[in-house]
Amino acid sequence: MKQPYLKFCFGAMGCGKTRKLQGDYYSKVQDGFEAIVIKPSIDVKGDNNTLARDGGSVETTFLINKKDNIYIKIANYLLEHNLDFILVDEAQFLEGHHVEELSNVVDILGINVICYGLRTDFKGNLFEGSKRLFEMADPLEPIIRQCSCGNNKIYNMRLYDGVPVFEGEQVAIDGVDATYESVCRKCYKDAKKKVLSRSKVKEFKK
Ligand SMILES: [Zn+2]
Repeated sequence: MKQPYLKFCFGAMGCGKTRKLQGDYYSKVQDGFEAIVIKPSIDVKGDNNTLARDGGSVETTFLINKKDNIYIKIANYLLEHNLDFILVDEAQFLEGHHVEELSNVVDILGINVICYGLRTDFKGNLFEGSKRLFEMADPLEPIIRQCSCGNNKIYNMRLYDGVPVFEGEQVAIDGVDATYESVCRKCYKDAKKKVLSRSKVKEFKK
């Protein structure tokens, strides 16, 4: 018998994570499974809908707040519903304890959980939710897209007015507070070097 699993699908921004979530959702439903989509409340894009860049959307059953216990929420949901799959959008924004609770949803309640999220923030550091997922999830599935140079995109460069920035808060929602361009590690380093040398020139001229 196949055991339920906690899976993490990860990639850079714009690599089609949300499109994959939507595709997985519809194929599970078509195959006769009961599935829901949930996501952290920090993502204001699309409110209660899980919105892909190409405009498709799937309704989110509930939002997860920082202090919510997802295990208890799901246990309550099960009092009135059947459930085979939980799809978690924007999983990088989960708290560490949320991932532990989701693992109990899999191991105790026997429900499959698939998380979709970013690996790292615009500085190249792991998000809290992604870190815990790398520690606890199995299987891991990278969603791979190529940078214009041919390497795989793994970094999310933050842009303000088209200019890369490398300092600031970890979270600035795409299209709301900033825009992003996903690139490979090498192109990220090259862009950072260029920005840093430009600001040094500015300092020198002062
Ligand atoms: Zn590149």
